[in-house]
Amino acid sequence: NASKVNRGGIYHFEKNAAQIMETDLHIEMNLRKALELDQFELYYQPQINTLTQELKGYEALIRWNHPDLGIVSPAKFIPMAESTGIIVEIGEWVVDQALSTLKAWNTEKSKDITISINASARQFLHKDFPSLVGKYLDKHQVCPSKLVIEITESLALENTVEVSEQLTIFNKMGVSISIDDFGAGYSSLTYLLHFPVSTLKLDRQFIQHVHQDPKSMIIIKTLIRLAKDLDINLIAEGVEEEEQSNLLQDLGCYMIQGYLYGKPMPKEEAFRFLLNSNKNELV
Ligand code: C2E
Ligand code: MG
Ligand code: MG
Ligand code: MG
Repeated sequence: NASKVNRGGIYHFEKNAAQIMETDLHIEMNLRKALELDQFELYYQPQINTLTQELKGYEALIRWNHPDLGIVSPAKFIPMAESTGIIVEIGEWVVDQALSTLKAWNTEKSKDITISINASARQFLHKDFPSLVGKYLDKHQVCPSKLVIEITESLALENTVEVSEQLTIFNKMGVSISIDDFGAGYSSLTYLLHFPVSTLKLDRQFIQHVHQDPKSMIIIKTLIRLAKDLDINLIAEGVEEEEQSNLLQDLGCYMIQGYLYGKPMPKEEAFRFLLNSNKNELV
């Protein structure tokens, strides 16, 4: 049904609705197959308290080990998974995997760490999402307070009522919520007053430019102050340089996630990192 226009022997495809649907179906099929063939993998990136040098937790970040393409970044396939709806199934796999991994790391050291997972809008707003999370917490016997669900501020803003309802349920369950990429979207600070969130994750762009751009510095200072006054945790994302880390410490932000302290790594490596952590060995 695709409309082909022959221009000088070259077929140009003009996407019509049918074709878009066909492409979507194709992508959905591939993602479904990836799920069946166990081609997804979670990587874990450390979140560090620079004051105590302790490992606070890990963020689970999905990768697609594609047989031909190699490791595919979530930035490439998560948007497609969202638009086709298969994110709901992938999301369930993520919850199962992350909790099973945390459970398997059954050591003294893993007792105090949290595991954060990312939930996209469609997944988070799905009415069965809280009970699904509950099911996997039970299955793996993980305490709800160990789990953090990261949502983005645009989701929170666009679906205020629905998000608020889900947040209330998670709150009752004892699962924490964190606002990802904070400051990157159309921030409306009022939702912080209404939503029970435990953590804000300061978007990487502010950290990246902090030494060149005085405005980034002002925003960071303001957000650190805001989080402190509202008694909400703050994690700075994307810290790559010692200088940035020191500056954040000086400003009173001690929770850091970034390449400086550790890249996202496969679970075996993350386990070794965990075993070696909290010994003041970190830079
Ligand atoms: P995010 O949740 O904001 O995750 C942080 C991203 O920043 C990760 O990219 C991480 O690798 C990257 N990052 C961390 N520290 C640094 C640093 O110091 N420098 C630089 N340049 N980058 C850093 P990643 O793993 O490619 O994930 C991209 C996005 O894909 C995530 O952004 C999240 O929105 C989404 N995503 C990842 N896993 C999942 C998942 O399981 N489910 C859903 N729904 N979305 C996911
Ligand atoms: Mg995240
Ligand atoms: Mg982020
Ligand atoms: Mg992001």
